[in-house]
Amino acid sequence: MTGPAEAGSAVLSVRNASKVYAGGVTALDDVSLTIREGELLAIVGRSGSGKSTLLNIMGTLDRPTGGTVLIGGRDAARLSDRRLSALRGRWLGFVFQHFHLTDGLTAEENVATGLLYSGVPRRRRQPMAAAALDRVGLARRTRHLPHQLSGGERQRVAIARALVNEPALVLADEPTGALDTANGQSVLHLLTQLNSEGTTIAVITHDRDIAASLPRRIEMSDGRVVTDSHLDSSLAPGGGA
Ligand code: ADP
Ligand code: MG
Repeated sequence: MTGPAEAGSAVLSVRNASKVYAGGVTALDDVSLTIREGELLAIVGRSGSGKSTLLNIMGTLDRPTGGTVLIGGRDAARLSDRRLSALRGRWLGFVFQHFHLTDGLTAEENVATGLLYSGVPRRRRQPMAAAALDRVGLARRTRHLPHQLSGGERQRVAIARALVNEPALVLADEPTGALDTANGQSVLHLLTQLNSEGTTIAVITHDRDIAASLPRRIEMSDGRVVTDSHLDSSLAPGGGA
């Protein structure tokens, strides 16, 4: 397995994306960025700076009002909802602040839902879910229900669900935001470990300490990218990579 990559191929690119919500709030204003294979990056900014909007647009959960999202080189806007869902299922894994686990399902069943739209046959899903739980250190919790797990364990289940289909990119929106410091650090450590094993991960956070601990930082303010540590001065007007 490779470590954090130098410059792998582009997994996802956002080009000049904007998002104006109904009511007129400009949540994203001309945002461009490229995420390459093997990266571990933070998208950091204050509450309201547009991070979740950016995640939703990168994840094709929402469409931008302007600009382009390319996933594996394909323009998301040119795909039907159905084909977009298929692309999302293959390429992307999601982790949310509040885990979004299903209450009545065991850890293993929750992880297996990550394979629902993958085309993986039903009989293969359970062993794959068990293997993903093993990767996140929960091999002994496969039959537990969410309410029988700690917050940190629940987030590990959600991470296993995001990983089970081996997505090209994991998008995590405030993955430590609902956890205490120790569990938050443990989840962050897990994400770092998964990255060192080859998974490309974008962590959205308002926490500057978390951002500072990751190899690349993209800082947002008022819907704009104001710093990208991989681009340095090229964000100046007229700049660009
Ligand atoms: P962050 O995740 O950085 O806190 P968001 O992307 O959630 O920021 O929000 C950016 C801005 O867009 C905020 O001003 C927020 O109030 C607004 N916003 C977010 N979602 C919606 C929505 N569905 N409709 C209208 N405005 C929204
Ligand atoms: Mg947010």
